[in-house]
Formats: sequence, structure tokens, C-alpha cells
Amino acid sequence: MLMKNIYFDHAATTKPKEEVIREMLPYLDERYGNPSATYGLGMQNKGAIAFAREKVAMGLGCDAKHIYFTSGGTEADNWALIGVAEKNRMKGNHIITTKIEHHAVLNTCKFLERKGFEITYLDVDKQGIVSVENLANAIRPTTILISVMFANSEIGTLEPIKEIGKIARRKGIIFHTDGVQAYGQTKIDVDEYGFDLFSGSSHKIYGPKGIGFLYIRDENMISGFIHGGMQEKGMRAGTENVAAIVGFGKAAELAQINLQKKEMKKQKLRDYMVERIINEIPYTKTNGDYKHRLANNVNVSFSFVQASNVKTMLDNEGIYVSTGAACASREQYPSHVLQAIGCSEDEMQGAIRITVGEENTKEEIDYFILKLKEIIDSLRRKSLSYGVKMKLYSEK
Ligand SMILES: *Cc1c(COP(=O)(O)O)cnc(C)c1O
Repeated sequence: MLMKNIYFDHAATTKPKEEVIREMLPYLDERYGNPSATYGLGMQNKGAIAFAREKVAMGLGCDAKHIYFTSGGTEADNWALIGVAEKNRMKGNHIITTKIEHHAVLNTCKFLERKGFEITYLDVDKQGIVSVENLANAIRPTTILISVMFANSEIGTLEPIKEIGKIARRKGIIFHTDGVQAYGQTKIDVDEYGFDLFSGSSHKIYGPKGIGFLYIRDENMISGFIHGGMQEKGMRAGTENVAAIVGFGKAAELAQINLQKKEMKKQKLRDYMVERIINEIPYTKTNGDYKHRLANNVNVSFSFVQASNVKTMLDNEGIYVSTGAACASREQYPSHVLQAIGCSEDEMQGAIRITVGEENTKEEIDYFILKLKEIIDSLRRKSLSYGVKMKLYSEK
């Protein structure tokens, strides 16, 4: 039998596009010059970086001078929080964030707590949305930074960042957003949202891994992160990963082509999938707000099963989904996001995340649903609690 290869884990990473790889290859080979060198072999690479920076900036509707390349979304988040904390220590030591941030933000906050900073971790409602009112009430005279993610990586929920941006502006507080799940997936204009800092990553948008950026509105807000040479205006030193930057630039450029059309396509596929899952598999519930949500994300809880078993059995069929965020899925304790939205133990145990990409098809979804129904059914037949429940029903 032909092994299927159906990828539904685009929130974890994506397969680099052929055009992206083709653009990168010369920079791994004959174009090896150091971009800081002052002869042709090096200088041409400086040009390639400048060109890529322009293309990455297009995804935010900003000038290229605000884009600082990093080793990925994680580094951008670390830089945003630590850089602002360090630079503004004299003004205050209080930071506001939420309980559902990516670990790149949450664990950086934990680090800053050990350094004497005070962090408010805001609750979210049952849909995974932070309350703007609670946020406004949490502001202190010592608040130096608000960091709220654009879109949640596990449940896809879009946060009210436009309103949060307005409050931050009014209060003169620096506003950072982890935009890794949104960048290149939906139309973003930095000025419209009022971001001061924005983290993005390449490998979530069909680019190479190990490259991302931090958008910095004003260099005076933040201290440099890697100390050394004058690369990235001396704020993030170290010889540039030219091939990765060039690949990221290409991926960013491709992402902007028919952006809204691709977004609609993903949403249609996702909605079709959700409708079939809910209608055809009983004792199933979706997690996260359905309206304020990324186009490609569904997070769904199947009662009476262990999500890890569902994932493994799907894997055996050549279908890839996630149980919570990829980087957290090795951990035994349940997802901090599902916990924050008040999921029950049963709902957390049986939660899987399916994130579609622009290359997925309706046929793939049909095949997936077919296999999913078989798998859920066979797992439930082995489940004691399901057996008890069915027995109770039949006796009524
Ligand atoms: C993937 C992701 C990150 C980390 O980005 P890397 O480039 O993998 O370091 C940070 N935040 C969010 C919301 C993500 O989805």
C-alpha cells in the first residue's frame, strides 16, 4: 500500500518551498563571502540581506530599517522582553503578559522574575481571549512592558491586540506581540495595530528554520541582545546566516502573494473539517473562540481517548497532527493553554491540534476523517469509562 503523507501540523513548522530552497543554495556554496567584507564576494551578500529585509518588512507594512534578524521566534521573544526590561529598569520593573503565551515568552518572564521583575500573568476567558479591561486594571505606574500574543499557537485564538495597542500608547507603555503564528498568514500593518515590538519566524511560513526577526519601532526602547560586531546595527551581532535570511526573504515574499485568497482557502478547508468531525464523531468539542481565530487552526477534544494514542495511530497512517504545542508535547503535564481556558481533565487528555496549510486538499481531509473515525472508535471501544457511559445509556 502506498504510504500517505498528509501534513496537518503547520503551526509547528512547514516544509520549505522549492523556490525558497533554490534561492538559498548559492549562499551555501559559491556565495560564501562574509557580508561585512569590503570586496565583491562579501558585499554582494550585504545586498542580498538588504533585499531580504525589504521583503520581510512587506509582511508588516513597515520600513525595512525596523527589521532585525534573529535566530528565530524564540530569540525575538527573549530579546523583546529582556531587552526592554534591561533598558527600562530605572523606569519600573513590572511587565504584563498572559497565561497562554508561548513558552518563549513565559519562560523568559520566569527568568526575569528571578532577576527581580514583577510579572502579571493575565487570565483568559473560556474562549481563550484576554480581557482588555483586566489588562487596563493591571497597569501600574511601574509597568514598562505589555506582551500579548497576536494569535495563540495551540487554539488559534486572536487576541484583542488593536485595543491593547491603544491602551499601551495612551499610557506610554511599550507593547510587544509574539506574532509568529500570524505573520505571513494574515494581513498585518504595524501602524494600524500600534506595535512597538513584533516577533516573527520563518519556518512557520514555508521558510527555513533558525531564522526570524524582531520588529523594533524605536531603538531607544530596547537594549542590544548579542554583543560583538556591528551586524544588525550592533544590536544583534554575529556573522549573518545569509542563506537562511535569503530563504526567509523569499518565503515572506511568496506569503504575500494572494495572501487573502490563501487565507480563505485554509479557512474553507478548516471549516469543512470541523463540520465533519463534529457531525460524525460524537462526544467531541472544539476549543478556542470560533470567530476570533486563525484561518488554519482547529483544536478539538475527543472524550474517552488519549490524544497521544490518536496521534500515534494517525502517524501509522502517514497523517501528522499535534497534541498541544509541538515543543510542549513531550511534557507529561497538560497544556497550559487548555488549562487556562478551563478544559476538564478529560478534554485536555483527548485534545488534538490540526493546522492546515495552503497545500492541503479536500481529499486529504476526507481521508483523514475516514481514518480518524476508525481510530477514535477503536480507542473508545477499549475505554472503560466509555463502556460505562454506553451501558448507562442503553439501560435508560
Ligand atoms: C513557533 C513559535 C515560536 C518560536 O519560534 P521559533 O522560530 O521556532 O523559535 C514562538 N511563538 C509562537 C507563537 C510560535 O508559534
